[in-house]
Amino acid sequence: MTRFNNKVVWITGASSGIGEALAYAFSREGASIVISARRQAELDRVAANCAAPDKVLVLPLDLADLDSFSQKSDVVLHRFGRIDILVNNGGISQRGAVSETLLAVDQAIMQTNYFGTIALTKAVLPSMLAHQSGSIVVVSSLMGYLDTPLRSAYAASKHALHGYFDSLRAEIQKLGIKVVMICPGYIRTEISLNALNPAGEKHARMDRSQAKGMSAERCAAKILDAVARGRREAFIGGLEVLAVYLKRLLPGLYARIVSRLA
Ligand code: NDP
Repeated sequence: MTRFNNKVVWITGASSGIGEALAYAFSREGASIVISARRQAELDRVAANCAAPDKVLVLPLDLADLDSFSQKSDVVLHRFGRIDILVNNGGISQRGAVSETLLAVDQAIMQTNYFGTIALTKAVLPSMLAHQSGSIVVVSSLMGYLDTPLRSAYAASKHALHGYFDSLRAEIQKLGIKVVMICPGYIRTEISLNALNPAGEKHARMDRSQAKGMSAERCAAKILDAVARGRREAFIGGLEVLAVYLKRLLPGLYARIVSRLA
């Protein structure tokens, strides 16, 4: 399949996990890709493993460095002339109780997951508006709808993305630009290893639910389907996805169940 032939796709968080799998999947389907994250060596490894390494631009970027994005966007436009799809995937999770977590950790998670995502989108939006086309994909989480102990800042950052990007969709869909919200459940990646503990250090443990989750490759395939179909929103995962409907239909029961997880 080559649904994305000659499309220019910019993927953040492409040095591991879902972003890495997205890089391979878009590259296999003929896209030119820009891959970003902080670790250049990992990005170089991903680029070398792509179907067409000559159509890959490695562009290291720190989502917390909001002032760097317009220059990065200029680099992409200089190389490819346009950006068809921006996949805001980079992010960081959390494992820590509110009572123990430093405020600096809450701020760091919001800076990367929320402000980094909206600032990069603002840097890319003008070129999409000029072309009157494009797709902005946001990898949120089931935590964009749910709440659970030990993930307060993470859930807040993902909830915030929905308010922001659903509003953006209302502004730009008539101009030919799509906003696609992706809400994964448990995906087998390094997310729990990289999650921040109350002191801002790496949690450094693979959670059992993560280890048993869907593969990043399968998740990426489902994300490409959602983008190709121009879906507004896609929930991706196993039975845990049903929790969204449980909370919507029986909020009291959902609250009792999650409080037992604490
Ligand atoms: P990984 O930890 O494997 O990947 C996270 C990616 O984000 C890495 O490429 C990392 O690269 C990048 N990243 C983290 N911080 C920054 C930063 N400050 N600047 C730039 N890049 C950064 O986890 P996943 O692949 O699972 O996570 C990808 C997305 O999926 C995240 O947004 C996550 O919230 C979301 N998600 C994941 C779920 C799961 O179960 N795995 C479930 C729901 C949502 P580097 O360290 O090189 O900067």
